[in-house]
Amino acid sequence: MFEAATPLERKRYYREEWDVRKLPDFIARNIHMREFGFDHTGRGPSDRYRVFDDEKRLSRFMRARFPFAAYSSVAFYREPGKRRGWQRSELIFDVDAKDLPVRSCDCEGVCERCLDEARELVLMMVDTLRGDLGLGDVHVVYSGRGYHIRVLDPGVMELGSEVRAEILRYTAGARQPRRKFTHSGESYEMEHFSIPLGYHRVFIERARHVFLHMRGDERIENVTARTVRDVVRNRELLLEDRWGEFKRRIGPRVYQRLVAGVAGINMKMVDAKVTIDLKRILRLPTSLHSKVSMICMEVKNPETFDPLKSAVPKFVHERE
Ligand SMILES: [Zn+2]
Repeated sequence: MFEAATPLERKRYYREEWDVRKLPDFIARNIHMREFGFDHTGRGPSDRYRVFDDEKRLSRFMRARFPFAAYSSVAFYREPGKRRGWQRSELIFDVDAKDLPVRSCDCEGVCERCLDEARELVLMMVDTLRGDLGLGDVHVVYSGRGYHIRVLDPGVMELGSEVRAEILRYTAGARQPRRKFTHSGESYEMEHFSIPLGYHRVFIERARHVFLHMRGDERIENVTARTVRDVVRNRELLLEDRWGEFKRRIGPRVYQRLVAGVAGINMKMVDAKVTIDLKRILRLPTSLHSKVSMICMEVKNPETFDPLKSAVPKFVHERE
């Protein structure tokens, strides 16, 4: 498992198992407006600016070339072959299990556990996008080493990079929650966990996820290694939502620095470059992630999805 696919295995996959009809509808229905890119050697997608007028042509190409990796643009263009006439782009969130700054295991690449932690985060983010932001047409794709969230809601597809970055900060819990408020001329402070609504609730969930998955040797900006160990020692309180007690044990002043540090970590749980890039190409669902021999695929039910059951190509089971 998680070993690279040989050219022969790729060929078998595209000729015997892959089927263009499995392409998600959100790609098939506007295939002619997207730029396609391919990696034939394993050194990156150097074959770009490809266009397919329909699924049949894409199918022919894939069976003939069985690329190492296949990608399509998140953007729709009038002239995709020239990357000209940009019309709109999907809003993307990329959670790569390998790059999570906080994860409970210290394996080299990815394993079942890391992938599951990435999935947990994606579930929370999808909930925020649908619930808090009211977005529809939200799709989850297993990328082979993590997950992509792809949003095709008409309300976001024409947005520029700056607004996308703002949505990312909200959804990832990457901003420090507001603490100081005023009422009738008097100012007072309230902790994030005293306001379990809206952004404050998003932050509580993301912070809890980070604290519960820390190994204890992480570096958090402006926080000592001792504090990180204190977090790990006291984090069970968070399972019962006892944030006040947790804060007392950490120390009220240190706690503020910890909150700031966690906001910074939350930002790194998602690859921001992908979200703000309107012309990105993204791994094509149904294609093979040859580095790990997994199928990139749309996930219909992220609550129960298990990549080791659903995303392993047949040739892996037939290996020695
Ligand atoms: Zn792992």
